[in-house]
Amino acid sequence: MTASRQRAVVVGAGRAGTAAVEQLRAAGFDGEVVVLHDETTPPYDRTACAKGVLSGKQRPADVALPMDPRLDVTWRLGRRAAALDPWAKVLTTDEGEELGYDGLVVATGAAPVVPPGWPVGQPGFHVLYTLADAWRLRGELRTASVVAVVGGGLTGCEVASFVCSSGRTCVLVDPSDRVLGRPLGPMAGALVTDELARQRVDLRLGRRVRRVEPVRRGWLLLLDDGTEVVADAVVATVGERPDTSWLDGVPGLDTSDGLLCDERLRVVGAPDVVAAGTVARWPNLQYSPRPVRLGQWITAWEHGRAAAATLLGGEPPGGAVTHVPRFWSEQFGLRIQVIGMLPSDGEVRVTYLRPGRRDVARGGVLISHYGSTGLEGVVAVNATRAFTSMARGLLATSGAAIHAVAEIQAPTHAPIHAGIQTPIEVPRLAAVG
Ligand SMILES: Cc1cc2nc3c(=O)[nH]c(=O)nc-3n(C[C@H](O)[C@H](O)[C@H](O)COP(=O)(O)OP(=O)(O)OC[C@H]3O[C@@H](n4cnc5c(N)ncnc54)[C@H](O)[C@@H]3O)c2cc1C
Repeated sequence: MTASRQRAVVVGAGRAGTAAVEQLRAAGFDGEVVVLHDETTPPYDRTACAKGVLSGKQRPADVALPMDPRLDVTWRLGRRAAALDPWAKVLTTDEGEELGYDGLVVATGAAPVVPPGWPVGQPGFHVLYTLADAWRLRGELRTASVVAVVGGGLTGCEVASFVCSSGRTCVLVDPSDRVLGRPLGPMAGALVTDELARQRVDLRLGRRVRRVEPVRRGWLLLLDDGTEVVADAVVATVGERPDTSWLDGVPGLDTSDGLLCDERLRVVGAPDVVAAGTVARWPNLQYSPRPVRLGQWITAWEHGRAAAATLLGGEPPGGAVTHVPRFWSEQFGLRIQVIGMLPSDGEVRVTYLRPGRRDVARGGVLISHYGSTGLEGVVAVNATRAFTSMARGLLATSGAAIHAVAEIQAPTHAPIHAGIQTPIEVPRLAAVG
């Protein structure tokens, strides 16, 4: 074991890991900060992978996260954490190096999953999670005229939107009867689905891909109703799984769905270890004591800062780390904004900004979700102004940070990265035992 005093190790340099690094330094931690990151690219804005990078409006260099060199961080890019001994406080890398730590931030995010046997990585067959994935996909889309997107979630629909806007034919396959039903709720999902149909996406809803076969130019997808789709390129956006494989078998950790944490993001069963971002499953007491995982950019950022503060022994404001989920997406000429939680059995109120239009979604729709505590979530489609005022109300009652409304309104994430460090007064990591 490397002898260490006051060393913080961060695993994963996505938004959660980098926010943790920034917060450690902002809070005055002056020990060594080591970041292990298994991608070879420096930290970047992952959300741009399905937006600006794919469309070509941004090049990879444009989406780098601005990390202040004065943070004095030891970056280990291309290095993966491979094992953990939480009692000895030692982490082992994929090269067998042992790193002792006083505090550890697990921010390993997620990795895309596809059914067994799908030929990911072969020419014309893609997943979309990393910048490298996005760059490769962009290159291959140039020569594709028919693109099949498997999975109608946010990433799949953003890809479909780009494919259509660039004049290519898009076939979208999803087992549900509408796209985006999970992140937006059934009503907004149905409205967006109508818009996709109007924009001539070849929708194969209620269908699953049974088999994938190579054909002379591209891929053949055999669907469960016996129909076939032949496409030059396939993009599989069927799901992701929290990246905890390196923690498999560590006694005392619950990795059944991400890493189980307490309400302050302390990993249950591992002293001086916190988790942040998509990998963390924690009780978001804003809504419920039942631990949940949230896969959003703003969650990762807020988590990273809060987890670092917890590690340093300070109280995050209010004690528990609470969070109001929120995200936006732009696709098919629709600006979609979501804040809060959407209870499955609550009351739903719909406001049409321009009632009577055939293209309802384009005219503007605000969908308010009410649960046992009152208004719990809002979904807006082309209703930015109305959304902003509702969102302000929700955030004000939640006690969330002041910057939050700007975050959901911003056309890109870029301006938000500046000036976001609110130092939380905390001293140093607990001394090594
Ligand atoms: C294409 C795409 C578009 C998206 N668009 C939006 C959007 O518009 N809005 C929104 O709110 N959210 C969006 N998201 C989700 C958002 O990007 C994630 O919620 C956020 O990036 C999570 O950040 P994170 O730091 O928790 O994890 P990640 O961003 O996944 O970063 C974790 C990093 O850790 C690395 N890692 C994993 N295991 C190890 C290990 N053992 N050792 C070392 N390194 C490791 C991974 O390679 C990864 O780089 C999008 C996601 C994708 C994939």
